[in-house]
Amino acid sequence: MPPLPEPLRICAVCPNPCRSALGATAGPPESRLPSAMAYLCYAIAHGHLPPRADVVRSLRDLDAVRVCQERCVYGYRIADDIAAFTAGLSVEASDAA
Ligand code: SF4
Repeated sequence: MPPLPEPLRICAVCPNPCRSALGATAGPPESRLPSAMAYLCYAIAHGHLPPRADVVRSLRDLDAVRVCQERCVYGYRIADDIAAFTAGLSVEASDAA
């Protein structure tokens, strides 16, 4: 298991103030915003969630994270941290078809 980058620990419990970067449109689902994506990484790193292929695939959809991180109140590059973490995972087969 790769180490969890420290910014992901903070981001996982942050209420997404950076979502303002997406503007007033409906935007991506909540599950693609930085905090939700960081929490998935946290859950995997702590053994609460296996690194299934479907989960890891969702963690590679970083378009919304890249937009939001431009307004990260901590100045984190969360998309890079998520990409680095998932690159080191041994992915398990999904139960989903
Ligand atoms: S990217 Fe920054 S501002 Fe946005 S949820 Fe994560 S820690 Fe909070």
